[in-house]
Amino acid sequence: MEDLAQQELSDNLIEQFGRQILVPGIDEQGQLNLSKRKVCIIGLGALGTVASQYLVRSGIGEIHLIDPDQIEESNLHRQINYTLEDVGAFKTEVSKNKLQRINDITKIISHQTTYENYLKDNVNQNFDLIFDCTDNHENKILSSQISKKNKIAYVSISINSTEGIYFSQNYKKDTTACFACLFPQTDVNHRCLNSAMIGPVAGFVTSLACTKIIFALANSSNDLKSEINLIDLLTSDINKLQLADINCPH
Ligand SMILES: [Zn+2]
Repeated sequence: MEDLAQQELSDNLIEQFGRQILVPGIDEQGQLNLSKRKVCIIGLGALGTVASQYLVRSGIGEIHLIDPDQIEESNLHRQINYTLEDVGAFKTEVSKNKLQRINDITKIISHQTTYENYLKDNVNQNFDLIFDCTDNHENKILSSQISKKNKIAYVSISINSTEGIYFSQNYKKDTTACFACLFPQTDVNHRCLNSAMIGPVAGFVTSLACTKIIFALANSSNDLKSEINLIDLLTSDINKLQLADINCPH
């Protein structure tokens, strides 16, 4: 009976994700692994909406969406889950409604609250990956600490104007640098309202992160490294910094 259920799941995955399964490093086993993974996306703005689209479409088993905000007209030029008729509605609800129609593999769970408040009600963090897509420095320090404490893979991305930063930490090592080690100052707490943004930069930086995330979740031999990528879309420069082991005090 179990074999039959497994075969049906496998046939369903090949039907829906056949082209992705062809990618070396993913294959059928990787797709099956993806269907059992659980990811938390924090923030459903410019970065989080792109992340939600690509990660749901990759066939990840369960995706949690966390955001307290309502959609504003000024969001629409870069936040790809929303259109004019969604203005005033909550980002988590609109995103969930649209995303859950993409496939029958991914379970979408929305949390219409801040990450800080979400943590008060959800002590047990059993994600395979936490993906911080907020533009809030304090939030990133908190989400990085939570992932480190619970040994969960972690990725954070940020953009400003035509530049972006990708950060990932290797959750398997105690000697890995956390977000607070790399970006300690709290006075750079830019809110979305103030920072300059263009849609394609959000799309590019998030796509880079999602590519690494899909490979890492599909196959444990593709684990995320501790690294920073500095990306400038206008000059086409990507600088990759591999992070050395340190004694993280956080
Ligand atoms: Zn640290």
